[in-house]
Amino acid sequence: MGFFNDLGKKTSETTNKIAREAKLKMKVTENKGKIKDLYEEIGRKVYENHVREENIDIKDLINDDCSKIDMLSKEIEDSRKEILILNNKKMCKKCFAEIEKDAMFCSKCGEKQTEEKTVLEKAEEKLEKSDISPENEKEAEIVKEELEQKNNEQ
Ligand SMILES: [Zn+2]
Repeated sequence: MGFFNDLGKKTSETTNKIAREAKLKMKVTENKGKIKDLYEEIGRKVYENHVREENIDIKDLINDDCSKIDMLSKEIEDSRKEILILNNKKMCKKCFAEIEKDAMFCSKCGEKQTEEKTVLEKAEEKLEKSDISPENEKEAEIVKEELEQKNNEQ
């Protein structure tokens, strides 16, 4: 029984992973399309400004569009990172090649991969360094638990 249950669990985990990856990839494509539209919009606005021969500050004219592109690009970056994590991969900090999650060095450029600390690890470090008196220990525990939860939600 256990074997079949485990097998079922594993299959649904894999299915979830594939579905999640497909969703992320779709989002990347969608955002790329939106960015392309914004580029067009910026171009149109700049040209119309030229035709009108008014002295509107171009920067003001396209500021919103540029902010939107910033946001969409950030989303694309986040989605790509999540896709890498789903596949147990990470990105080389130097050449941005896809490498194994546990690789110590980049297989492409040889750059040493320093581990990025998670929110929780950073918080733990901070707690260890700070002198917490015994009466505040409980409070520190609570903070730690909260951070742990937050970390798991990410
Ligand atoms: Zn590299």
